[in-house]
Amino acid sequence: MHQIIYLQPDAPNKPAWGDACNGCGVCCLAEPCPLGQLVSGRRRGACDALRWDAEHARYRCGVVADPQGIWPRLPAPAVPLARRLALRWIGAGGGCDADLVPLA
Ligand code: SF4
Ligand code: SF4
Repeated sequence: MHQIIYLQPDAPNKPAWGDACNGCGVCCLAEPCPLGQLVSGRRRGACDALRWDAEHARYRCGVVADPQGIWPRLPAPAVPLARRLALRWIGAGGGCDADLVPLA
């Protein structure tokens, strides 16, 4: 199945499956993960929580990078816990688990 996604011109190329995540954004632009489905309220299309980090030229998960940007009513003391839970939920640090093949 083919799907058109729009990437930032400076986004890094997607690494191979299992290699370290480089924030290419391909997976989150293709479809939201389970946490992203909660945030976005849908199971298809780009995740609403995805954020472009222009300074570092990579995408970041907004739930991890800025939980209050996603949930403005989240109390400040709960931010570290929200980050920790999000990191665990999205499987951060486990390498790229997206078997998508981007075509230019
Ligand atoms: S998990 Fe893979 S596809 Fe998703 S942002 Fe990281 S490197 Fe890109
Ligand atoms: S990792 Fe974050 S930005 Fe990516 S789909 Fe999941 S919730 Fe959305």
